[in-house]
Amino acid sequence: MIIKTLGCHGGQLPGRNLTGFLVNGEMLIDGGTVAMNSGLSEQRRIRNILVSHAHLDHTNAIPFFAVNIVSNKTEGVSIAGSAYTLDAIKNHLMNDIIWPDFTKIKNFGGKYVFSYKQLKLNKWEKVGAYRVMAVPVNHTIQCTGFLIGKGNSYIMYSGDTKETEAIWAEAKKLGKKLKAVFVDVAFPDRAGFLAESSCHLTPASFAGQLHKLGGLKPKVFVYHLKPEYLKEIRADMKKIKGYKITIMEDGKTYKI
Ligand SMILES: [Zn+2]
Ligand SMILES: [Zn+2]
Repeated sequence: MIIKTLGCHGGQLPGRNLTGFLVNGEMLIDGGTVAMNSGLSEQRRIRNILVSHAHLDHTNAIPFFAVNIVSNKTEGVSIAGSAYTLDAIKNHLMNDIIWPDFTKIKNFGGKYVFSYKQLKLNKWEKVGAYRVMAVPVNHTIQCTGFLIGKGNSYIMYSGDTKETEAIWAEAKKLGKKLKAVFVDVAFPDRAGFLAESSCHLTPASFAGQLHKLGGLKPKVFVYHLKPEYLKEIRADMKKIKGYKITIMEDGKTYKI
């Protein structure tokens, strides 16, 4: 799998974009950043969006992405997530008031620009060419992480979460097929109180999660860093030994 980082931050500053990852050029994981860091032809190849939860830093770019793909003459784009997340997007974001409901607007190919695909929790489902399992994690609203796989290659994407159990347990079941984990580490250790109240991880609490993979040693990527603490988070991350950990950067592509 090729993962392109459109944005990997939990806040915005010049050059620091909100969370959005492109998988093999065809599936988006979260929609905090799309058009700001992706050209038109690249956007037009996207067929599916997995949305972990409804918070704006994961959804705000989806309405503008819709405008850029109306001229597609292809199938529409499916937005996949839990019933809770999809209801929030329908009722509070693309609700025909804040922004048009693009499930009622057709593209140049005569297909609706967006459709919603409700994912059952904790079950493997087919999304495009991928097997996907949405697993609830531990955030301020319902959020699901995802296990995503194709062939013998699987990744875990944590979504926004503090300490949690189920997704790590499901990831562990994948054994050697688990090639990489992507995990939310938002605050430095000294802001642990903020991480606790907003339900995110710090390097110290993140380190306590990795052992839940048992002896598995997939590649480890961290994202959702709050831009104002980047230096401190990087320094704290150096204390974690025994894993190959990459702190993600906007615009970079990672081969899994
Ligand atoms: Zn969130
Ligand atoms: Zn977030």
